[in-house]
Amino acid sequence: MAQGTARVEEGGEDPRRRIPRTDALLALPAVVAAQAGLGAQVVRGIVRAVQDRARRGEIAPEQVERAVLDALGARSASSLRPVLNATGVIVHTNLGRAPLSPAARRALQDAAGYTDVELDLTTGARGRRGAAARAALLAACPAAEDALVVNNGAAALLLATTALAAGREVVWSRGELVEIGAGFRLAELVASAGAWVREVGTTNRTHAADYREACADGAAGVLLKVHTSNYRIEGFTSEVGIAELAAIAHEHGLPLIADLGSGLLHPEQALPQEPDAAAALEAGADVVLTSGDKLLGGPQAGILLGTAETISRLARHPLARAVRADKLALAALEATLAGPMPPVLAALRTDPDALRRRTDALAARLGGRTVAHDGRVGGGGGAGVPLPGWAIALEEELAAPLRAGSPAVVGTVQGGSCLLDLRCVPVEDEEALVEAVAAAREQCLSHGVRGIVR
Ligand SMILES: *Cc1c(COP(=O)(O)O)cnc(C)c1O
Repeated sequence: MAQGTARVEEGGEDPRRRIPRTDALLALPAVVAAQAGLGAQVVRGIVRAVQDRARRGEIAPEQVERAVLDALGARSASSLRPVLNATGVIVHTNLGRAPLSPAARRALQDAAGYTDVELDLTTGARGRRGAAARAALLAACPAAEDALVVNNGAAALLLATTALAAGREVVWSRGELVEIGAGFRLAELVASAGAWVREVGTTNRTHAADYREACADGAAGVLLKVHTSNYRIEGFTSEVGIAELAAIAHEHGLPLIADLGSGLLHPEQALPQEPDAAAALEAGADVVLTSGDKLLGGPQAGILLGTAETISRLARHPLARAVRADKLALAALEATLAGPMPPVLAALRTDPDALRRRTDALAARLGGRTVAHDGRVGGGGGAGVPLPGWAIALEEELAAPLRAGSPAVVGTVQGGSCLLDLRCVPVEDEEALVEAVAAAREQCLSHGVRGIVR
């Protein structure tokens, strides 16, 4: 038997002997039924974990059966757990970026089985993969002549630079050599596939003449404009806009790629400084790249919008097959574009007064107080732009049990408080949040954590 902290009762037998055996637990009808949905391996893992808790003395042997059934009920076959995002950061890469709209979730379900992703059901002939997602993109962004969907934004950049400039130079401003999450550098990605990065200008200032000069020796394959989606350069700065860059590129017979990151197809009133695909295309970019799961509010995807000629060149490149989007992403993307406002946009456009009313009401129920708290766009755009709002301040000690709860609640710890921002918590999840806070409080009280009151 494993080492444990369960004490041998005085004069009695070791209570660990009373822990139900694995085969007995696996034979319970509810456990047998759960195996059909979760798989034998997952169920065995849950049974063992509960037995271990009993061996450590965290639960009594008599509670093991109940705990196994509870754990099975709460568990799906995937170990990813649902999270209530109370950080106020809308596109949070660590939390899976964009939460999907109900329409997109439904589309995922429908596409999960066999589906007509590459079959024309009227003629019975092979159909173009992703035709419906493409049509939805063109309807949402008429400035594009054609569209292509790939695995993610990085894949879109890889495909565009490789197909348009392999063996040649990608002309790129030093002020736009972005590093995104986990030390991932876009310039290294581009260089990895066989194009040469030709840096022009300086960190703070790049001029049209810098691009012209780089094009003069004939080594350039493409001009690239990258949106500095996660930082801002202020002070003595200058950059070349898309219209002027497109003119320089076209003078030299080269295409212009604009990597916008954020995924806005049109100007967004809540983020007036953020670039959008329609404007970039109208200004002359040959292809615009965006992510599907940032401000667009859809599934992970890389979206390429552009001229018919450029998109068809990219679609025919062998790499296009290696980075293609899966049927689930295509289905969810189409539903996001055609359906109701996705949660990301709702969170972005949250009215601060309405947020204040929700926050006050919930703070009163949770025994917290309302404090001013700015929300953030997070990944893909709006760098440094505060979204005025509010949060509920609770005892700092609640943060850890809230994260460990089910659903997990992730807030922020600031100035000795655990802050819960409701901007990204759907109204229908408020009761779950109230229950989660009550459970976290109970846990702190039972562990004698100081400063927690009922
Ligand atoms: C996020 C981002 C990318 C990468 O997109 P993923 O969908 O995360 O692969 C590329 N370029 C810019 C400017 C970005 O903001």
